Amino acid sequence: MVEKRLSTDVLVIGGGLAGCFAAVKAAEAGAKVILSDKNYCGKSGNSHFARDMMLFREEWGDNFKNWLDQFISIGEYVNNRDWDEVIIKESYPRYRDLVSWGIPFYRKRGMKGTPGSDHPYGNAVLSDDVGFPEPEEEPFRYHHQRTKYRKSTAIIKFGIRHKMMVCRKKVLSTGATILDRVMITDLLTHNGKVSGAAGFNTVTGDFYIIEAKAVVIATGSLTFRPSYYGIQFNAGEGMTMAYRAGAELTGMEFGSGMWVTKECDSVCINGPVAELGMTHDSVTNGLGEEFLDAGAHLPTNIHWPLEVHKGNGPIYHEPYGYDRNEHKEAIEKYNETAEGPWITMLDRAGIDIFNDRFEQYMCFLGNIFPGGVKINTNCETSMPGLYAAGDSSGTNFTGPTYATLGSGMCSAKCSRLCKRRDTFSTHTRRG
Ligand SMILES: Cc1cc2nc3c(=O)[nH]c(=O)nc-3n(C[C@H](O)[C@H](O)[C@H](O)COP(=O)(O)OP(=O)(O)OC[C@H]3O[C@@H](n4cnc5c(N)ncnc54)[C@H](O)[C@@H]3O)c2cc1C
Repeated sequence: MVEKRLSTDVLVIGGGLAGCFAAVKAAEAGAKVILSDKNYCGKSGNSHFARDMMLFREEWGDNFKNWLDQFISIGEYVNNRDWDEVIIKESYPRYRDLVSWGIPFYRKRGMKGTPGSDHPYGNAVLSDDVGFPEPEEEPFRYHHQRTKYRKSTAIIKFGIRHKMMVCRKKVLSTGATILDRVMITDLLTHNGKVSGAAGFNTVTGDFYIIEAKAVVIATGSLTFRPSYYGIQFNAGEGMTMAYRAGAELTGMEFGSGMWVTKECDSVCINGPVAELGMTHDSVTNGLGEEFLDAGAHLPTNIHWPLEVHKGNGPIYHEPYGYDRNEHKEAIEKYNETAEGPWITMLDRAGIDIFNDRFEQYMCFLGNIFPGGVKINTNCETSMPGLYAAGDSSGTNFTGPTYATLGSGMCSAKCSRLCKRRDTFSTHTRRG
């Protein structure tokens, strides 16, 4: 085992969307940056699976108050509204950052289907029209779930599956260093201030001590390694090490859940379905009754458990009666999107999502979105020298729920982190 000692202005721990944004913005502000990821930055983290993000713009007819009201009602009135404003208003500049880095989005023109339909899951049929919209050009935006309370926000779709590899390239282009397979286990402190971190290479076993004037926790969510695919990597180490170093956490009492097919780790509701043009998603309880519409204002991760709690479980997904052969091309195209593997996983479990009836159960995921290392709107934690961003940070911007805004959320947060050139100089005292 070799001991390696490094020194930098900014150490970013975690290379998902949040970590990449933090690294890029810090490097662009003039800092020397090291980003470490316990896996391979560009292919790990929840960010790899995200396929869409929220996008607000007044010029395209969006009303800030309506959006805020939606956040507040879905967030059960305990949201941090300062953060809601950041998330909503900074979604556009962060989207433009992603376009400028080389990530294409689905364009509006040429899109089939009826974007913004009143169907709870929208009816957005994917087209081939993917590209780099001009600043004033509205990309294809759709309403994810149009229900009584969820009717204002609009969502855009990443146009490629491997967007995180584009982010990796962008990080490297700024001159930042990426340490792949280096898992950070502890923060270093000196005189009540975070002064770096220690970890090891998961392949070679080399031990790392990295001194840093500022450290950013961007290690993603805290999961119980659940059977919902994609989030098993993140076990909350960032939150734990921040807590051990003396930082406050917030919102940790809120858990998240997702509906998972009993026979395999795949979810099946809404994504694969609406985008292939199907307008009716039928979910029934143990009595054979459709119950979704009755409580459509509730997020499914609250509404479905209530149904089981009433004694009406288990929950089944009913067949769509969709001819796979007739739509082979569309399904193959869908499989190339970030969440395409959902259909493949069901296939491998011997379930035809289009023609079989199958059971789904509520899978508790851990603290995925609401809580984490408590930060103010400059991403500062309660420990000097320590910042947090993305799913590992605690902003309470959605209250206890997940409002399907994850990627937009972490991008907006991270740009805050390094927005002003002097954000890090407070701690870096360069020269
Ligand atoms: C299947 C799936 C689909 C989703 N779809 C969407 C969507 O369509 N739209 C949306 O807005 N949101 C979506 N989300 C949520 C969204 O992906 C997350 O909110 C967002 O990606 C979080 O980004 P992040 O950078 O904070 O964390 P992550 O992307 O999870 O990155 C964390 C990184 O930290 C690294 N790491 C962890 N611990 C350590 C350590 N100790 N040392 C070094 N590195 C470490 C990990 O390897 C990982 O690369 C989805 C999530 C999943 C799982």
